[in-house]
Amino acid sequence: MTGAPLYNRLALIGVGLIGSSIARAARAQGCVRSIVATARSPDTRRRVAELGLADQVVETNEAAVEGADLVIVCIPVGACGPVAKEIGPRLAPGATVSDVGSVKASVVHDMAPHLPAGIHFVPAHPVAGTEHSGPDAGFAELFVNRWCILTPTENTDPAATERLATFWKSFGAKVGTMTPEHHDLVLAITSHLPHLIAYTIVGTADELSQVTRSEVLQFSAGGFRDFTRIASSDPTMWRDIFLANKEAVLEMLGRFNEDVSALTRAIRRGDGDALFDHFTRTRAIRRGIVQIGQDSPAPDFGRPHPDLPAEPLPRPYAAESD
Ligand code: NAP
Repeated sequence: MTGAPLYNRLALIGVGLIGSSIARAARAQGCVRSIVATARSPDTRRRVAELGLADQVVETNEAAVEGADLVIVCIPVGACGPVAKEIGPRLAPGATVSDVGSVKASVVHDMAPHLPAGIHFVPAHPVAGTEHSGPDAGFAELFVNRWCILTPTENTDPAATERLATFWKSFGAKVGTMTPEHHDLVLAITSHLPHLIAYTIVGTADELSQVTRSEVLQFSAGGFRDFTRIASSDPTMWRDIFLANKEAVLEMLGRFNEDVSALTRAIRRGDGDALFDHFTRTRAIRRGIVQIGQDSPAPDFGRPHPDLPAEPLPRPYAAESD
């Protein structure tokens, strides 16, 4: 980034996948003068210091926010309310407070009452992640070409929202704004329900256990492997997401169940046309996602594959002259 840093002192509360990626990107882009970080456990704080992710690592949330003009809370959504209560009285006047939670209405509901007048509250959700957790899992490029959704409240100063948008854009992110409720509805179908389906299908396969478990692992085909990756995401984070976005997830789950019933009926009745039409529609959606650059067109998501052995494979059927 060229020009003066956007913020003087960034305080990160929680330095897992998302917090540590923000620290790395902020360092790489020079968009803050200094970073102070804290995490719940001494182990994580020690690791953050070892990795050099912050200029200062402190023991408490209150100490972290002291003198910070940008505070980003990067912890599971269920913990955001109590943390806001803790830091509220220690925030520097005029500071911007944000978060990265995957659910927005509950975070706004839980945090806003604890933030004093004069604090700019700009909730955010970077729609970027992996199934890994902790400070080692983060990387500076995580947000490149990903959306960061801001859900400012009616009272938020537009200039504070604009500054935070510039901060996220400096990481290569695309920034959009919407209401917390709309965000939760959109994410329920694009992220929360897919995770629920993955958690379900991997659990179902596991329950087939005794007879088939080794086969499930051994012969896991691409589709199932992709579900296992999603279903290995952090249990605390996802428990909190489903509890916090209950209404929207139940609404989407209702629609999903209706569609599963329709496909079940098509299979039972041997209605190939219904199946073909449905799969054609979904294939177009995948192509659309690739077209707008939200995923790679490479086969198997561009995963690297082992090379063939250097020597030609024995081909007992090959002719002498081959
Ligand atoms: P993570 O890697 O598990 O890190 C979570 C951090 O929060 C750790 O530093 C942890 O400290 C701290 N923490 C956990 N419980 C806490 C509590 N009760 N009070 C205070 N601190 C606590 O998680 P993450 O993936 O970065 O996710 C953080 C937030 O980002 C969540 O709200 C999630 O919804 C959102 N998000 C995640 C993704 C994703 O793909 N992972 C994507 C977008 C948004 P210790 O290590 O000391 O326990």
